[in-house]
Amino acid sequence: MSEWGFTTRQVHAGARPDPTTGARATPIHQTTSFTFTDARHAAEVFALRDLESYAYTRLANPTTAVVEERVADLEGGVAAVAVASGQAATALALFNLARAGDHVVSAASLYGGSHGLLEHTFADFGVAVTFVRDPDDLDEWRAALRPETKALYAETVGNPRGNVLDIAAVAEVAHGAGVPLVVDNTVPTPYLCRPLEHGADVVVHSTTKFLSGHGTAIGGVVVDGGRFDFTAEPARWPGLTGPDPAYHGVVFAEEFPDFAYAMRLRTRLLRDLGPAVSPMGSFLLLNGIETLSLRLDRHTANAVTAARWLAEHPAVSEVHYAALATSPWHGNAERYLPQGVGAIVAFDLKGGLDAGLRFVDRLDLFSHLANIGDVRSLVIHPASTTHALLAPEQQVISGVTPGLVRLSIGLEGIDDIIGDLATGLAAS
Ligand SMILES: *Cc1c(COP(=O)(O)O)cnc(C)c1O
Repeated sequence: MSEWGFTTRQVHAGARPDPTTGARATPIHQTTSFTFTDARHAAEVFALRDLESYAYTRLANPTTAVVEERVADLEGGVAAVAVASGQAATALALFNLARAGDHVVSAASLYGGSHGLLEHTFADFGVAVTFVRDPDDLDEWRAALRPETKALYAETVGNPRGNVLDIAAVAEVAHGAGVPLVVDNTVPTPYLCRPLEHGADVVVHSTTKFLSGHGTAIGGVVVDGGRFDFTAEPARWPGLTGPDPAYHGVVFAEEFPDFAYAMRLRTRLLRDLGPAVSPMGSFLLLNGIETLSLRLDRHTANAVTAARWLAEHPAVSEVHYAALATSPWHGNAERYLPQGVGAIVAFDLKGGLDAGLRFVDRLDLFSHLANIGDVRSLVIHPASTTHALLAPEQQVISGVTPGLVRLSIGLEGIDDIIGDLATGLAAS
């Protein structure tokens, strides 16, 4: 598979004609469970000695397995685990490394839901999180490290400001401290950026967005890069290098040395916490991934045109889009996102909060809702919605100003997109 190019693998990786019926599209295996051939077979599956067979859809499902193999292939990872949402992907990816008493260092500029998860729910679970206000400041990352730090976390392209992470530099800080870097690659998708190639160790996605692409299915995925050596400091990673009492003392790093991280995430966290994706959701996701590059090329072309047009408009004070030469992240974008920075364009209205509210109310083509990565153009005013639950101080750290508007530019005709923006700005 891997000698084929990206656009071929987005169609084919992980899929094969159904051995029973010959069905060419991946069937929706809408079943909770799978029969065992005999008692011995069942015992092998439960003991993790038979990894080919399926038992129960909370753990694995043949439709979902195609998603997992395809996303792992496109990201260049060794294995992937699909889950029910992007939030579940982030939670499981980090809980697979950090337990009560441990610590995580995260960029502050995050998707609002991720920020809430890390700030509040992680605290409730006993995992402390330090937020790095300026993810470009490597000293701030280093200063946040503690002996009990178990992961660094950031988004490749931060939501909503479009800041582009210096992946290699932050990976170096992580590895210098002996911990993995976990990156949320939702906004660029593996078509535009593959963080594992730049030193990240684990990639998470909200597949709800561009991977799925049509706004029809919530989902998430965790990709294991397979390169982080947990056995170098075994005492630090008891879940991966010590005997697991929940599996007759299995040692994941010994039994599954190539993909211990993904294996434990599936068989401990997905099994016990249960955020399994439905087979129907996986089917919709597969259909989306098959056109990923085509959609992203068009999303990006439309977004570049819209961003340039907005930058010239008198009602707009600043456009946040790393493809523009004026962006502080233009250099990082050229290095990490050479094929384009994607469809998320944010901008500040000179008129502040009231102008932001008038703008979203006046748009017609753009749908006002809390999503990104749909074929349709979308708009949201973060200060009154996605980031409204953050304290004003936290809003500033996340880059959410009162007049900030976030667009997810869709696949419609660019003249219609610009026309709608012009109407909205006139009303703002
Ligand atoms: C939407 C989103 C998430 C959360 O994903 P859900 O599928 O909504 O749970 C996480 N990170 C980013 C960057 C997102 O845009």
